[in-house]
Amino acid sequence: MQALVCTNCLEKFNDKEPIWKCPSCGGLLDLEFMPSFDRERIQFRHPSLWRYREALPLNHDENIISFGEGFTPLLETDIDGVKVHIKQDHLFQSGSYKDRGAAVLVSKIRELGIKKVVEDSSGNAGCAVAAYCARAGIECHIYVPKSTSPGKLAQIQKYGAFLHLVPGTREDTASAVLEAAGVNYYASHSWNPYFFQGTKTFAYEVVEQLGWKAPDTVILPVGNGTLLLGAFIGFTELVLAGLIPNIPRLIAVQSAGCAPLAAVFQKDLSALPPIQTHETLAEGIAIAAPVRWKQIVNAVRTSGGLFITVEEEELVCALDRVNRQGFYIEPTAAAAIAGVRKYIAGQQGPEIIVSVFTGHGLKSTEKMLHLLGQDS
Ligand SMILES: *Cc1c(COP(=O)(O)O)cnc(C)c1O
Ligand SMILES: [Zn+2]
Repeated sequence: MQALVCTNCLEKFNDKEPIWKCPSCGGLLDLEFMPSFDRERIQFRHPSLWRYREALPLNHDENIISFGEGFTPLLETDIDGVKVHIKQDHLFQSGSYKDRGAAVLVSKIRELGIKKVVEDSSGNAGCAVAAYCARAGIECHIYVPKSTSPGKLAQIQKYGAFLHLVPGTREDTASAVLEAAGVNYYASHSWNPYFFQGTKTFAYEVVEQLGWKAPDTVILPVGNGTLLLGAFIGFTELVLAGLIPNIPRLIAVQSAGCAPLAAVFQKDLSALPPIQTHETLAEGIAIAAPVRWKQIVNAVRTSGGLFITVEEEELVCALDRVNRQGFYIEPTAAAAIAGVRKYIAGQQGPEIIVSVFTGHGLKSTEKMLHLLGQDS
């Protein structure tokens, strides 16, 4: 059986309870769940993330809200003369990998019978949750910083979600939604454990697409850690199921303009440092106070990985190179590729490297025009 367990006081709760944090102490919840994998059955199923059905914590198939998402191509790409496998996660319905989390979370929300949710986002998580709520017929309120890319603001509203523009920083938006979450279910990509039950499918897909083999190294962009922690959960489950021998090295990439996790990791801090956020093109990972920071740092350590920070110029350069190879990704997504370039430069010896394109370039037209020197 599955249960929600508090990461702080360790109390357990029935998974039929509509809670997103510990009712006793306010701590973060994780889901305790035993997945299973039947490779024989999986291989004949539709190429979507639901092919791993027995590893996804939904009780009834009729609650599944899906656009047929997942199983995105894993393409071999040349980066500075080195072969890197890149997961094309900008190709989801709403234009970012956040659909992995939203698909499982919103399905669970329907299973719980919840009719209205709130969520906050610097853009893409809001788009993903709004899209799945639209398909499910669930009322959706998205809180975003006023400075969010106009393309993402339009997308959220076009899905029929209620948009709440919050002046100030990303942290001000987080405070505003926590107030709303006092009386509503919080479909949070950072707090809600079901979001990570969706992003973990990244690991399953990579391993299956490599012929049920684990890569040596996985390089991911990190803000709130929804992809990195999901990948860590997924790889850990595959190890426990005996399908891969060990977790790949997880390399976490942060923007130098907002790198609290890199600071914690590198200086072995016991608390998040105060961060002066600088303007960065990597809006999607500019998170000064990620709530799951301890888990993220622990996941990177456990895997034998490390943190890399990338400067604005390195991000712009990586974006340019990738776009000129025919991949239209958004600036935030290029942070990971700038990280790949730095990693490769310091590495010798053959290894299987996997990275990801997290978001689609069409979301950030005004930033692209700005980079081209064509501001309107
Ligand atoms: C959300 C997002 C990320 C990073 O995800 P975190 O959960 O904040 O670590 C990276 N790239 C894009 C395009 C995103 O939308
Ligand atoms: Zn607790």
